[in-house]
Amino acid sequence: MFGESYTLFRVIGFEVKANVSWLFLALLVTWSLAEGFFPFAYPDLPVATYWLMALAGMIGLFASLLFHELSHSVVARAYGLPVGGITLFLFGGVAEMLSEPKTPKAEFRIAIAGPIASVVLGVLFTVLSVLLGLLGVPAHIAGVAGYLGFINFLLAIFNMIPGFPLDGGRVLRAALWHRSGDIRWATKWASRMGQGFGYLLVLLGIVSFVLGNIVAGMWWFLIGLFVSAAAAAGYRQLLTQQALQGRRVRHFMTAEPVTVPAQATLRDFVEDYLYHHALDLFPVVDGEHLRGCVSLRQLKEVPREAWGRMRVGDICRELEPANTVEADADAAEALQQMQESRSGRLMVTDRGRLVGMLVLKDLLRFLEIRATLDPRHER
Ligand SMILES: [Zn+2]
Repeated sequence: MFGESYTLFRVIGFEVKANVSWLFLALLVTWSLAEGFFPFAYPDLPVATYWLMALAGMIGLFASLLFHELSHSVVARAYGLPVGGITLFLFGGVAEMLSEPKTPKAEFRIAIAGPIASVVLGVLFTVLSVLLGLLGVPAHIAGVAGYLGFINFLLAIFNMIPGFPLDGGRVLRAALWHRSGDIRWATKWASRMGQGFGYLLVLLGIVSFVLGNIVAGMWWFLIGLFVSAAAAAGYRQLLTQQALQGRRVRHFMTAEPVTVPAQATLRDFVEDYLYHHALDLFPVVDGEHLRGCVSLRQLKEVPREAWGRMRVGDICRELEPANTVEADADAAEALQQMQESRSGRLMVTDRGRLVGMLVLKDLLRFLEIRATLDPRHER
C-alpha cells in the first residue's frame, strides 16, 4: 500500500520492518520538534540543542511505537494468533495479524494491550522528567523525557477512539460481538464508527488548513483518509473471509492449465504462449515434473538478441511458497496470499504435482455473485 518495507531487526521473535514512508514521518517529527515544540516549551536554548533534542525525541517515539505494537503482538501470540511482523509506516506502527481472533475476549485483550503499554510509558517518562527536573539535570534532557511522556499519553488517547480499525474500535467490536454473538454485525458497526471518525478527521484537517495550520491540516486530512479507508477494508475483508470459509482452492482452480516446456526457446515462449494466451504467468514443466514459473517480467530482463538461443528453463523462477498453493488449502488463505504477494495467479499443487491454476479474477467473480445473491452480504 505504501511501497517497499525493509526488515530492520528481530525482537522476541517478531520481525520489525520499516516502510519507506516511515522516513517521511521521522523527518516531519524531527523538524516539527526542532522548529516548533521544543523552542516553544524551552525557550532560549541554542538551535543545535533543539535539533539534538528533536533527534532524541524521534528515536524515543520510534521505540514507543514499537513497544505499543509489541504489546499487541505478545498477547496475540499468547492466544495462538500468528503475527506477520511489526511494520512502522507513515501513520505510526501496525502489528500484522495473519488471522482474526477467535473470541471477543481474545480480541479485547489483544486490542487493549497497546493503549495500556502506551499509558505505562506515558507515566514512566513523565515521572522520569519530573525526577530529572528535581535533580537539577539540564532542561533539555528532562524536556525530551517530558515530550515522550506527553506523546505516549496522546498515542493511548488517539488509539482508544472507538472506531475500527483503531484499538478502541476493536474494543468496541469485542463488546458488540460479546453481546450479540455476531462478529459480522459487530464489525459492521465498529467500522462504520471508524469511517465516521475518519471523515471527521478529514473535515478537521480542511478546517485547520484553511485557518493557516498548513502542515497539521494536511496531516489530519491524510490520517482521516487512511482511517476511513482502513475501516471499510476491514469490514470487506471479514465478509470475504466468511464467504470463502470452508471452501478449498480445488473448488476455484482452473484444472489442466497451459504449461510451457522448459526446453522451449524464449522466442517460442513469446510467439506460442505470451501472444497466444491472455496470461501473465505460466508454469514451466520438465516432462511431468513442475520446474517453476515464468512471466513477462523475467523475459524482459533478457536482451532480445538472446531470445533465439536461451531456453525457458534458464530464466524460470524457482518454485517458492509465495507462488504455489496446495489444492486442499483454504480459499480465504489463498486469497490473502495473493494480496500479500501482489500476484493474481497461483500454481496449485497436489503432493508436488501441478494440478491447476488459481486466478484472482475467478475468486473475485465468485464473491461478487455471492454478494448479489445473499442480501446479508451487503457492502
Ligand atoms: Zn494499537
